Amino acid sequence: MISDQEKKALEDIVGERWVSADPCTLDAYSFYMNPEALNKEGGRFTPRPAAVVLPATTREVQEIVRFCNRTDLMVKPFSTGFCAMGSPSRDRVITLDLKRMNRIIEIDVRNQIAVVEPYVRAIDLQTRLFKHGLNCHVVSAGGHHSVLASATSAWGTGVNGPTMGYSGRNLLGVEWVLPTGEVLTLGSAGNGAGWFTADGPGPSLRGILRGYQGAFGGLGVFTKCALKLYRWDGPAEFEVEGCSPSYSLKEVPPRMALNAIAFPSSQAMRDAGYKLGEADIEYAQFRTPMFFVALGMSRNNRTLKQILESGVVQRIGRFVVNNAVIGYSDREFKWKMRVLRQILAETGGVMLPVVAGLSTVNIMGPIRRLMKRVRALLPVKV
Ligand SMILES: Cc1cc2nc3c(=O)[nH]c(=O)nc-3n(C[C@H](O)[C@H](O)[C@H](O)COP(=O)(O)OP(=O)(O)OC[C@H]3O[C@@H](n4cnc5c(N)ncnc54)[C@H](O)[C@@H]3O)c2cc1C
Repeated sequence: MISDQEKKALEDIVGERWVSADPCTLDAYSFYMNPEALNKEGGRFTPRPAAVVLPATTREVQEIVRFCNRTDLMVKPFSTGFCAMGSPSRDRVITLDLKRMNRIIEIDVRNQIAVVEPYVRAIDLQTRLFKHGLNCHVVSAGGHHSVLASATSAWGTGVNGPTMGYSGRNLLGVEWVLPTGEVLTLGSAGNGAGWFTADGPGPSLRGILRGYQGAFGGLGVFTKCALKLYRWDGPAEFEVEGCSPSYSLKEVPPRMALNAIAFPSSQAMRDAGYKLGEADIEYAQFRTPMFFVALGMSRNNRTLKQILESGVVQRIGRFVVNNAVIGYSDREFKWKMRVLRQILAETGGVMLPVVAGLSTVNIMGPIRRLMKRVRALLPVKV
């Protein structure tokens, strides 16, 4: 809890409306679907924040950090709060919810750079970028994660790694409120030269700020970051059917393929992985034995349960990967698919038939037919 005096001091910084110490609100901020990593006993509540504060500017963040330094309070920032790591791990911690800092500040199409605030989700940025023929790295958490949190503070791996690396490598600069409350702008932007590199002048601090995995809010608050963008060869918009939250792709757009590939052994899968990486033909790759789910063939848990109980996944084998291939032109797409088939021929991999648009009712018939085709295709007996 915080005292009335402390609450008043925070309200003076951000305005009365943007501070809450109401138990109901605090409990809502402590409840997570995935706090197992933090709770040994597996409970869904993390420690209650002392208060929740929503700043709107870097200046306000600075003042909050400075205020905490004058007391025994600590600050824990989060951007979307999707991940339980943004939650306090002890008492007397203020949760800094950065939801109000949600601007895409700049998209530099020519130089392929975006500058964003903390509450810009991957889907917000990507939707804008597709219209310019550009794309950003999205981690496998899904489109609703904060691209800033991912690039500055937490992990950063995702299925489109084959084309766009991982979030830490795409960081081109940050505005950083240090634990002291000072602001440091790293890299070229700090020198007034634009947001094109996070390193220098002088020694780079990227290793300290993020290292491989990020400091998870333990090193101050990042209030802006610049991200490297990539070319996007797919459509500016996708045709989907269904309604929120259950959309599915009407059909795979031209010059784009989603493949499920089974390998006879782990070694064959690894060999193909290296070859595919060297050939540089994949847009995305991910490994999941439950490839039906990943391809959007199941839309609810009942279907998933049916699929698993049918034993089809287990029979196909453990060594299944999905990949996506996208071509800039018809010619490039054909060439990429030819290279993929060649690599599969060299490593014993086979493309599984993908049943698109499988309905949630009566799926056992299609699955049985699919299994028959899979058995005929696989080089090993399943
Ligand atoms: C179901 C699920 C699946 C996931 N899968 C993946 C995955 O495949 N790959 C992957 O990389 N990650 C994954 N994550 C983890 C996480 O969601 C991502 O790393 C994500 O990119 C971070 O964004 P976020 O919006 O979740 O961040 P938040 O929940 O807002 O914060 C994540 C961490 O970063 C810190 N932080 C956030 N914003 C700031 C800031 N402005 N300044 C300083 N520190 C800050 C927080 O304190 C917290 O520790 C997954 C999480 C869940 C719940």
